[in-house]
Amino acid sequence: MTPVTTFAGRSVALFGLGGSGLATARALVAGGAAVAAWDDAEAKRAEAAAAGVPVVDLAQADWAGYSALVLSPGVPLTHPAPHWTVEKARVAGIEIIGDIELFCRERRAVAPDAPFVAITGTNGKSTTTALLAHVLREAGVDVAMGGNIGTPILALPPPSEERVHVVEVSSFQIDLAPTLDPTIGCLINITPDHLDRHGTLEAYAAIKERLVAGARTALVGVDDDLTNAIGKRLSEREGSDVYPVSARGERPWGFFASGTEIRARNAGETLADALVLADLAGVEPLRGRHNAQNAAFACAAAWLSGAPPEAIAAAVRTFPGLAHRMEQAGARGRVRFVNDSKATNADSTEVALAAYDRVFWIAGGKPKAGGIASLAPHWGKIAKAYLIGAATDAFAATLDGHVAYERCGTLDVAVVRAAEDAAATGEDEVVLFSPACASFDQFRNFEERGERFKALVAGLG
Ligand code: ADP
Repeated sequence: MTPVTTFAGRSVALFGLGGSGLATARALVAGGAAVAAWDDAEAKRAEAAAAGVPVVDLAQADWAGYSALVLSPGVPLTHPAPHWTVEKARVAGIEIIGDIELFCRERRAVAPDAPFVAITGTNGKSTTTALLAHVLREAGVDVAMGGNIGTPILALPPPSEERVHVVEVSSFQIDLAPTLDPTIGCLINITPDHLDRHGTLEAYAAIKERLVAGARTALVGVDDDLTNAIGKRLSEREGSDVYPVSARGERPWGFFASGTEIRARNAGETLADALVLADLAGVEPLRGRHNAQNAAFACAAAWLSGAPPEAIAAAVRTFPGLAHRMEQAGARGRVRFVNDSKATNADSTEVALAAYDRVFWIAGGKPKAGGIASLAPHWGKIAKAYLIGAATDAFAATLDGHVAYERCGTLDVAVVRAAEDAAATGEDEVVLFSPACASFDQFRNFEERGERFKALVAGLG
């Protein structure tokens, strides 16, 4: 745990007692703050009380004594409407912050030179964060990984010059971290997302920009217009230390994926002289252009953190990948099974389809607006589609006349049918489960859905 000492002796209101909220409450208490914690859910309040966190009904409380409102990132700060605690904090004239901000203040107070890599972007945050942590660990570095992935930031060991914090940060968390100042900030990409919570694309991009604007060294993607503009803007600032990162081939300088290689290049250097940080050829968990983007960021941050190129290259080859993201789910004969259950929309399925030449594709679930029409450029590589769940009719209508498909109803049936068809060709084949749908019609969440897929594959004769 990282005790938060910057509020010692003061009172703090805290709303939201999920995993990160509870960890934050504990860290504040451990650092000597008087915490008044609340959540709308009775069970969460009981859990907090059992953990020794003082539970106070913030709706009835006198807010005059609180120095700050510490909010969970899941609670609306601005859109669609500010949460009632936000209104109360505004009336009381106190600041509204989150756990990342508390960490930043603690770091500045106890170990201002402690290495702190913060990673954000619309997509690829978790993969980049996990890969960077893996590479640094393999290079012998003490790594504390968490934030929006896995362990809440304040449940990690404290910042220290001997340890690198590798932290995934969502836009909601940046919004609650006004003085976010990582040693290395990574902004991977920006595409429209979470607009219900940020209002406009511009507002969303401006929030993401803050993570790199406050960084000592910034790594900024150049493969989409929004991040490209941000990178340019930051580079124009005096004393800026900004590197462009691309997955779209050779660049005059910066970090980029060229073919399967991730390279670092100084301005004026020939491509042949540019340092090779890693080669992704044959690294299945990092297949696809999107993962080349993630790997370029992770390798760049590892190199800037002092990891030797040989260690980076070796570690990338042993990255196990993350569950449910193009995860290798086993093989039967010449047929490989890939679990991409995290793909809950067409954009995510698009990057998976782009990573393969030919697939037997299992798709469906609770459909999203827009369906799968955007996947049409990939129809040619789909040997056959196996449709499940509530999306079946809509997906069948889109595929009709373009792609062979079968209505399977459930995942259980689809796995068996796809396995049979793929095996029957006698060739090397891939069965890709990338649903392009939410899971809630038949499963609790995408994790349960992915686990079911893996169990079904394991159960094939
Ligand atoms: P995040 O943590 O930002 O949600 P993940 O690394 O967990 O990202 O990946 C989630 C999904 O997003 C993946 O399954 C894949 O479909 C897609 N994805 C991952 N990286 C990228 C990227 N760099 N560009 C576009 N899409 C990506």
